[in-house]
Amino acid sequence: MTTSTSSRQQKIAEEYIQHISIESVPKSLTLAEIAAETLKDPTVQLAISCLHKNKWYQSHDTKNMQFDRDTLQSLEKVKSSLSTDKSGSILIKNNKLVIPRSLRHKCIDLAHEGHLGIMKTKQLIRQKIWFPGVDAMVEDKIKNCISCQSCT
Ligand SMILES: [Zn+2]
Repeated sequence: MTTSTSSRQQKIAEEYIQHISIESVPKSLTLAEIAAETLKDPTVQLAISCLHKNKWYQSHDTKNMQFDRDTLQSLEKVKSSLSTDKSGSILIKNNKLVIPRSLRHKCIDLAHEGHLGIMKTKQLIRQKIWFPGVDAMVEDKIKNCISCQSCT
């Protein structure tokens, strides 16, 4: 079951990756950048390894590891919709790129550039990327933006 699930996910990932690389990378952000930052993000790395082993959160394995438990738990909750790209360097949720922590603010900033207000900024983000707590982060950003308030 695990094999068929992961090969099914791999197939989906392969079908999507072409689409993603053209359509879904936010402007001014490259897949290579996301892959490089994903590699440096211990939590996403752990999630990718859990996904491949189909074995999540083992406290004795992870005792000495530096990672964000909340993020890992959030990723585990959606594990059935997670996959990776072909090289295994980018985590994908459905057809969205899972953004490593270091790029989250940049992604929100990019989506927020047009000051479209909360609903449209969320829509824009949801088309392309995902990470745990993305909605709250967008809301936080927009709440403090005067230009966006006049749109909503
Ligand atoms: Zn704004």
